[in-house]
Amino acid sequence: MNRVSTSSSTGQLQNLPPGMVIGPDGKPCKICTAFRNWKPRTSAASIAVLAAGRPQSDHEPDTRPAYCPPDVEQLGRATWTFLHTTAAYYPERPTPNQRANMLNLLHSLPILYPCSHCASHLGETMKTNPPDVSGRIALSRWLCERHNEVNESLGKKIFDCTKTDERWKDGPPD
Ligand code: FAD
Repeated sequence: MNRVSTSSSTGQLQNLPPGMVIGPDGKPCKICTAFRNWKPRTSAASIAVLAAGRPQSDHEPDTRPAYCPPDVEQLGRATWTFLHTTAAYYPERPTPNQRANMLNLLHSLPILYPCSHCASHLGETMKTNPPDVSGRIALSRWLCERHNEVNESLGKKIFDCTKTDERWKDGPPD
């Protein structure tokens, strides 16, 4: 079960903050939820948002102390950074051993990624779009497309997949 609590939810969910994600065990899932939707909110602006029954803005600065465990967003940023950078430096012509290891890495995500609903969405999309590990350009594009599917589902901007090298390897042109 992967539900996001809303004001129209029933039972116990009604008592949860908007944006809180419920994990497979039926309990609030900390690593599946953005910190801004998890922490107690007491400011006037937060009370207004709660009254409106929607999560706080994506643009609200992340005010967590550095010692806090990651939330879904910090984990996501770190994971995308690792995956896109690894793809950007993957060989043009990988050996069978490199291909097999990359496939193992990618196929482990739907099983091991701690955010359960993120993992299961990725697993579903990987069934219809199997990873292309034939070379770094194909792999970078495949990852970019998977990331864009998540971006779209979260209402974020779609990334231009011709710019993966610029973003993750070369940096902007001088
Ligand atoms: P991110 O989306 O983390 O992106 C980091 C940087 O990557 C951006 O600043 C941009 O420069 C670059 N970028 C953006 N799009 C692309 C692209 N298509 N290709 C290459 N580079 C790009 N969160 C949820 O709330 N629900 C989910 O179901 C969910 N599923 C996820 C599944 C996976 C496998 C992963 C790794 C993360 C998932 N997340 C999910 C987290 C989510 O994708 C974001 O990481 C998080 O919301 C933080 O977003 P952000 O705006 O900081 O940038």
